[in-house]
Amino acid sequence: MSEQPLNLLDFGQPRLEALLETWGEKRFRARQLMQWIYQRGVTDFERMTDLSKGLRAELARRAVVRPPAVKLERQAVDGTRKWLLTMNCGNAVETVFIPDGQRGTLCVSSQVGCALNCSFCATATQGFNRNLTTGEIIGQVWVAQRRLAEAYGDQRAITNVVLMGMGEPLLNFDNVMAAVSLMNNDLAYGIGKRRVTLSTAGLAPGIERLREHTQISLAISLHAPNNALRDTLVPLNRKYPIEQLIAACRRYVGDTPQRRITVEYIMLDGVNDSLAHARELTQLCRQLPCKINLIPFNPFQGARYRRSPDAVIDRFHAYLLGQGLTVTTRKTRGDDIDAACGQLRGQFDDRTRRRSRLGGVADSAPLGDAMTCA
Ligand code: SAH
Repeated sequence: MSEQPLNLLDFGQPRLEALLETWGEKRFRARQLMQWIYQRGVTDFERMTDLSKGLRAELARRAVVRPPAVKLERQAVDGTRKWLLTMNCGNAVETVFIPDGQRGTLCVSSQVGCALNCSFCATATQGFNRNLTTGEIIGQVWVAQRRLAEAYGDQRAITNVVLMGMGEPLLNFDNVMAAVSLMNNDLAYGIGKRRVTLSTAGLAPGIERLREHTQISLAISLHAPNNALRDTLVPLNRKYPIEQLIAACRRYVGDTPQRRITVEYIMLDGVNDSLAHARELTQLCRQLPCKINLIPFNPFQGARYRRSPDAVIDRFHAYLLGQGLTVTTRKTRGDDIDAACGQLRGQFDDRTRRRSRLGGVADSAPLGDAMTCA
């Protein structure tokens, strides 16, 4: 049986260098290869003309550059673009590009589905299948960049990446970290550390680990100012309550001035949007260098919540501002193509049977790691 070709998108720079060394090549060939793959978007080794004929032949024999395939591409009236991308084994996940003036933000998925079961999120209703590989994560950037270049030349670049698509990135730590370092790497996308934001539902130990690896920006999906309410919205809170989460965030920003955590707070009508909640939130946010991002709830079929009315969101916003906190209200983008926050749904089989186990908390890393495609 012939060996499976290696997908080079799964290789960060250190692994790529090591691979080439085992083939008897110089390490710096990895740099050339990365520029071809990521900066020029070339997948055909024959076109990589500054590599020797021998290396090109070896690459063709043993490796491929295989990005996810575009199954569906949609564009919203506001310019937001969404791709449904087919991953290995036929799973499909969604990736969204959000243009805003000079800024172009790509919202990337980290898992096929999600195991965390937040009660207000469309992805949660679909269950969980598996972790994405490094290649499947960085492949989303690869595809988006090519499609944008084809559509707009160099007029629309990816300047920022947010790991806010499907999945919990800290439950797929190693693959996410390898993909993030490719996003940051000047030989690949060269997107500055602070322009890559990882959003977590609150995996406190994962935040501690993140601190040892990188200094990318961190966002937390807080959504409630006390444990009793947060337990009902983000079941992971029962395992890592707010105090533990805030402590991990404080250590993450450390003493560096200007570093701030983004606190995401979804506005749910009659659930977490009263002035009493705003007061509680203020107390919490005083403990943390942070900026608060209010997210109007985006509805989806079967949702059990409604979006807070605009006047209520404005009142909440104004209260926090009046307390001297930094606060923004997220503009809803791409909702006409179901590309807004919390509306992403892929196409895959649920392997957790969580859909039938109402309210379960599944947050162990092995759950994801054990599941690769058969
Ligand atoms: N698991 C990570 C990454 C997903 S980010 C996390 O929880 O942070 C997705 C963001 O969209 C999170 O802030 C999430 O809370 C928010 N979100 C989920 N469902 C939403 C909905 N229906 N409307 C608006 N925002 C939603």
